[in-house]
Amino acid sequence: MNVFFYSFMKNIVVAIDGPAGTGKSITGKMLAEKLQIQYIDSGAFYRAVTYLTIINHIKLNEINKIIEITKNCNLSWEGEDIYMNKVNMTKEMRSLEVSNRVSTIAKIKSVREIITEKLRKYKELGSLVMDGKDIGTVVFPDADFKFFLTSDINVRAARRQQDLQDYGYQVQLDKIINEITKRDEMDINREESPLQKAPDAIEVDTTYMIIEEQVDFLYKSILQKINLGTINK
Ligand code: C5P
Repeated sequence: MNVFFYSFMKNIVVAIDGPAGTGKSITGKMLAEKLQIQYIDSGAFYRAVTYLTIINHIKLNEINKIIEITKNCNLSWEGEDIYMNKVNMTKEMRSLEVSNRVSTIAKIKSVREIITEKLRKYKELGSLVMDGKDIGTVVFPDADFKFFLTSDINVRAARRQQDLQDYGYQVQLDKIINEITKRDEMDINREESPLQKAPDAIEVDTTYMIIEEQVDFLYKSILQKINLGTINK
């Protein structure tokens, strides 16, 4: 069956999870383009809330204030960017300051519940590719296609450095290795929806792959599943 026809007929969900720097976002973006469906970066929501706590001088132990700000902020995803009250926050939320803080905010149960509810609503608008840490396990446990990307830490750090450079931030590699190692540790070990591979996700080691290969691999896996009729609906 034709993949475009398929995703038009049914609201399909493609979940891409994995640790930082495995190329989830760019892969998700390019895959969504290829499938002609919406792409959503769930990490952007956690980052945007984190950015808000920074500019509002909220300390990490002020849990109630953090929950309040998460409830009240008007976040939306439009095109390829995250907006708060119609202001594009995509660049601000990429900073190392946000990266160093985000996993502590993302541990808070109520914050996760509010963001998860927001994320689930996007499915009502049509087919989508969403990347994150708990998309295939918690946000959309019945996603039609699930992938879990992994990669060597040095490759991940180099990719993150390039990412940051693209947004105008110059950061040393060792600082990035330190940041992503700590963040992975917190994301994997937290109580609420930790970063883990869904049992039915396809694991993809992207260490030696260029982005186009990653996209191609995921795209072909989706086609294969549709053509084999093994999609679970
Ligand atoms: O995807 P990205 O690296 O931008 O995500 C930033 C952080 O947001 C993650 O390290 C994690 O702490 C949190 N996050 C999460 N659940 C998601 C997406 C991101 O906890 N679905």
